Amino acid sequence: MTFHAGLDVAGRRVVCADGRADALPALSALLAAGANVDVVAPTAATSIRDLADRGLLRHLARQLKADDLDHAAIVVCGEQQENVRRLAAERGLAVSLTPHANPTKRPDGRTGRVILVGGGPGDPGLLTVAGLAALSEADVVVVDRLAPLAAVRHARPDAEIIDVAKIPRGAYTPQEQINDLLIEHARAGKLVVRLKGGDNFVFGRGGEEWQACAAAGVEVQVIPGVTSAVAGPSLAGIPLTHRSLTQGFTVVSGHVPPGDPASTLDWHAVARTNTTLVIMMGVSALPEICAALQEGGLDPDTAAATVASAGLPDQRIVRGTLATISRDVAHAGLRPPAITVVGAVAGFRPGPDAGPALTRAG
Ligand code: SAH
Repeated sequence: MTFHAGLDVAGRRVVCADGRADALPALSALLAAGANVDVVAPTAATSIRDLADRGLLRHLARQLKADDLDHAAIVVCGEQQENVRRLAAERGLAVSLTPHANPTKRPDGRTGRVILVGGGPGDPGLLTVAGLAALSEADVVVVDRLAPLAAVRHARPDAEIIDVAKIPRGAYTPQEQINDLLIEHARAGKLVVRLKGGDNFVFGRGGEEWQACAAAGVEVQVIPGVTSAVAGPSLAGIPLTHRSLTQGFTVVSGHVPPGDPASTLDWHAVARTNTTLVIMMGVSALPEICAALQEGGLDPDTAAATVASAGLPDQRIVRGTLATISRDVAHAGLRPPAITVVGAVAGFRPGPDAGPALTRAG
């Protein structure tokens, strides 16, 4: 079979110096024509790496060197890759250019970039004004399960919405695939909004996404969100601080249970902070967490409350004490996402009798 002006590439070596998704049409035509393809580029789009994983081509993750072109039948590169074009010309090799429609410039004159938007706890009304503005301008919106999906209707009708909760697990961990997605779309000149629940930097892996983008030279902007750590209790009518009761609050993740070798929290020290405790991702480990807090010296009668799906139509609240809350939550059938608050404020009930309610459990 032939490729590019009748050149027969079957069984011949072809070097592609462009790792962007824009090279995919050329790569698939070359593979269909039976070429042996080497992609030589420091980074490559996920789909190109996928072809490499499946053994259909080779990806050499580095800059192209002159001797890479030895024995090549043709060179594929981007129009802007002057150095590669010169090396090919010196050897009299044919060059096939990948599409180049000045893709990194947007109509507003800015290059593609990523905006990490904190979406709040789930109610679209709790997305910030700046977050909404970014969402309504985005070319691509990358969302996952806990993002305020109802807010996505504010995206442009032609915006591409990518639900990363649906990315199947493959050779790469989903987070790496998400990083790649953000980078690829930004490099293609797109305004990419990464919409997450709460605040992207509170148990949201926003830091990792930022680092990956920065390492790839992609500009990142951050729009903070209303974190569920604060909004969840607030929506349940629980003030995290209350003068004379507590001079602070401590937010911890219960994702890794106490006693697990991977746990980095000193639960006994957490028990002694004398602050309101806010436990996120703690539904399944709640029995172990409450036991560890009691072992650490926290009074079993301390008020506790769990709020599930805060700000969503199915919001539910269960109240109890440190000694009872895990049983109460299981009994009520509460499911994640949920936040447990432990401390006198968890017994707060507004109204004339609020004072006494705050001094005793429940
Ligand atoms: N970045 C998010 C947190 C992600 S971790 C933020 O800042 O809110 C996921 C955990 O957040 C859940 O396990 C749960 O503990 C909490 N969470 C998120 N949304 C919630 C909601 N609507 N109601 C209660 N808890 C919620």
